[in-house]
Amino acid sequence: MHGLMMDYQLTIDRIVEHANRMHPHKQISTKLPDGSMHRYSYADFYRRVKRLGNVLETLGVQPGDRVGTFGWNNYQHLEMYYAIPSAAAVIHTLNIRLSPEQLAYVVNHGGDKVVFVDGTLLPLYERAAGQITCVERYVIFNAPSGTSTSLPNVSYYEDLMAAASDDYTWKVTDERQAMGLCYTSGTTGNPKGVLYSHRSMFLHTLGENLATSLGATERDRLLAVVPMFHAMAWGTPYATLLAGAEIVLPGPHLQPPKLAELIAEERITIAAGVPTIWMGMYQDLKANPRDVSCIRALVVGGSAMPRALIEAYEKELGVNVVHAWGMTEMSPLGTLSKLQSHHDNLPDHERWDVKARQGYVVPGVEMRIVNDAGRVLDWDGSSVGEVQVRGPWIAKAYYRLEPTEEHFTADGWFRTGDVASITPDGYLQITDRTKDLVKSGGEWISSVELENALMAHPKVAEAAVIAVPDERWSERPCAVVVLAPNAGEVTGAELIEFIAPKFAKFWLPDTVIFVDEIPKTSVGKFDKKVLRVRHAEGALG
Ligand code: ADP
Repeated sequence: MHGLMMDYQLTIDRIVEHANRMHPHKQISTKLPDGSMHRYSYADFYRRVKRLGNVLETLGVQPGDRVGTFGWNNYQHLEMYYAIPSAAAVIHTLNIRLSPEQLAYVVNHGGDKVVFVDGTLLPLYERAAGQITCVERYVIFNAPSGTSTSLPNVSYYEDLMAAASDDYTWKVTDERQAMGLCYTSGTTGNPKGVLYSHRSMFLHTLGENLATSLGATERDRLLAVVPMFHAMAWGTPYATLLAGAEIVLPGPHLQPPKLAELIAEERITIAAGVPTIWMGMYQDLKANPRDVSCIRALVVGGSAMPRALIEAYEKELGVNVVHAWGMTEMSPLGTLSKLQSHHDNLPDHERWDVKARQGYVVPGVEMRIVNDAGRVLDWDGSSVGEVQVRGPWIAKAYYRLEPTEEHFTADGWFRTGDVASITPDGYLQITDRTKDLVKSGGEWISSVELENALMAHPKVAEAAVIAVPDERWSERPCAVVVLAPNAGEVTGAELIEFIAPKFAKFWLPDTVIFVDEIPKTSVGKFDKKVLRVRHAEGALG
């Protein structure tokens, strides 16, 4: 039709073209396994991405083929993030912390033809290799050529790169082609695959770069602690390059003191990771103070960031926390909590209340809460229902599974499985995941709220609340607590007394169990599935 706009395809190669044209001197830095820093410019990166395009062609990768990556956050992995989709293939980011059975399951289910394996992780991958049937070729990266492995049909990344030309024409032509495949980490069930398109990821990147969103600019230096196998590192590999921000990749150095050092030395302005990472770093900073106030946004999501920790970061460390909510099925960004102008005159404690919520939706995504009867609820701050979302970067089905009513509604919404209320000014407040709620005497108890309150106690480092079976009430909450270092003697009764003023009496956990460590999932969330099993087996103490 005359007068309409150009038919311009929103494809990932456009991002690296823009980055190279506008910001060729910006840096990409990686902390290598030996602790040294590898640095190169966007321009160097661009040439290597093109080379990798030729390498993929040599390997016989065809449009639509799935290419797996099994690695830490490093520059080679970032090259794959761009080259594989730009070659019209699909990058399938494999979680390095899955069990061998789960890893084999996702590789086979994804049907990966080629897999790039980080040489420092070979033993982990090799344990699963015997059960993997679809992979035709392996490429080893981040390790010297000739590194020995029991994997068949192996090539070495840098050998292939050295032999390839950097003269390459991007292969992707259509924004509706698939660009990425990521499986949920399986916190509440088997991993399920989500297939992203170029268009969905491009729009997600724009959404993430809005000023009201993460809003990275060329002034920023972003540290991606969130693994590149966890929900596409929350889109940060694409958002940074489109914004011209510098990106710092920690490789395997994820221990709290190493992260604190990296943040201080690299003058990081945005750092993204799950709450357990920032809990650990906070404890470490208390023992070994460092100036991390260079951070303007500590982005945290994946599970609820305790309010007390948001306050501690801000008050004690001068770090602004941006709490975000999303999931693999949402590319992953859904909401984030920044203060708005109508919060300007609030006292500090009320501002932290706002920041502890999951926040407002990123423009482009629609959100609603729905009760069990299917009625859409008001945004009144008290009505609680399941969160449902729709939008250009929300999944409409799982990969190679028929969409069912359990996850996708007949009228086109995705059911998140999260339960929440929404304040009149549009801030989402997650109560729980459906599967983690405690059902006591016909009433729901929010495990997240109890955890938040417990973690506000100065002697508590971590707290997870699980439902345990109860004859009279059907389920009762049980708190599993890790004490802070040097906490000394603390009793369960003392902790319950501390949180009691905040809750109705029947909400209070009947038991508090002290443990040395709370088991974590493959992406660092409290693993309540494991806690429930241990409790049932009487192994929790
Ligand atoms: P998995 O489903 O395997 O845990 P995801 O990382 O995609 O993998 O998890 C998404 C889920 O994580 C959300 O549905 C929600 O329950 C939880 N989540 C993510 N961010 C937050 C947050 N800020 N607060 C509370 N829960 C969150």
